[in-house]
Amino acid sequence: MPRIKLLFTPGPLTTSRTVKAAMMRDLGSRDAQFIQMIRDIRARLLALGQVSAPEYGTILMPGSGTNGIEAVVSSTIPRSGKVLVAINGAYGRRIAQIAETLTIDVATITVEENCKITPEAVDRALAADAAITDVAVVHCETTSGILNPVTEIGAVVKRHGRRYFVDAMSSFGGIPLNVDAAHIDYLVSSANKCVQGVPGFSFVLARRATLEATAGYARSLSMNLLAQFQGLETDGQFRFTPPTHALLAFHQALNELDAEGGVHARAVRYESNHQLLVAGMRALGFGEYLAPVDQGPIITSFRYPADPKFDFKTFYQRLSDLGCVIYPGKLTSADCFRIGHIGHLGAREINTLLTAVRTTVHDLGLQMRA
Ligand SMILES: *Cc1c(COP(=O)(O)O)cnc(C)c1O
Repeated sequence: MPRIKLLFTPGPLTTSRTVKAAMMRDLGSRDAQFIQMIRDIRARLLALGQVSAPEYGTILMPGSGTNGIEAVVSSTIPRSGKVLVAINGAYGRRIAQIAETLTIDVATITVEENCKITPEAVDRALAADAAITDVAVVHCETTSGILNPVTEIGAVVKRHGRRYFVDAMSSFGGIPLNVDAAHIDYLVSSANKCVQGVPGFSFVLARRATLEATAGYARSLSMNLLAQFQGLETDGQFRFTPPTHALLAFHQALNELDAEGGVHARAVRYESNHQLLVAGMRALGFGEYLAPVDQGPIITSFRYPADPKFDFKTFYQRLSDLGCVIYPGKLTSADCFRIGHIGHLGAREINTLLTAVRTTVHDLGLQMRA
């Protein structure tokens, strides 16, 4: 059995050896060197979103990506507010679920998981309901791999004068996005997606004036977005224990993103990973769930083969034994599995996976319709 497995997942994902090695150090959380690193990380994240201070600010939040989403939803919607959540997959549903858990008034637009959210649908929903104060959309809906047109939707949200929140968890750093041009007030992503760090925290790019108007909104102490921002701005520190090692790894990951040529270069690599994967999988008789025109470069959903002998658990375990970890499906309407093409992966690793899939199809005697 191979010692190290390749992760073809939406995160945590395969990181470079140098990103892992950056964690072989203990840093004091009140140490000047650490505080300087946090400042650098926060500034560089703004640059990745093509924005800068003082119009925008970065908030780092310990925990998973969902913690970052929950921080935004619980801290930025007023008691009298109502959030419109556009849903075409599990991550949109999760935002609505977070708001409901917090007893925030929720409206939803729900479309099929293989359809994009359209600006027109958001326009109609906003025109029909003046009570909506906030709009939430997922950029890459990792459930299927579809990309929602967040910039076009942002123009509609802006025209209606509502606040705009984008879950760009699985796309930020891997797909170019100008946060201001998309009229985004709050964007959330996390350390272990396209920046290629290790898990441990999420980050929020926030329009400063919008954030500063949220005093008193927070429904949680530790997830209070404004308080976390003010802490970082005043003494450069987290309010509570920071994920020091994950931050060290992330700082190295940002250096490696720059060395690769930035977000554009990374997007090109992910897209070529995707093209190579799809061509190889088609040649083996697999078909994608999404129409190519809707497919993003982050993760691809493949339909189960028609052969009734196909059993995902067995298929998954065989691939894992061969050193390749794929991802189960999460769609409600179709039997699919997912293969991520983000992370420290290139043509060599995609070919390794394709060889493992070919071997597995052969060993299991699966009848493929090529
Ligand atoms: C990964 C992901 C999340 C959740 O991140 P966790 O770290 O698992 O909490 C949320 N939204 C999208 C679109 C994602 O891809």
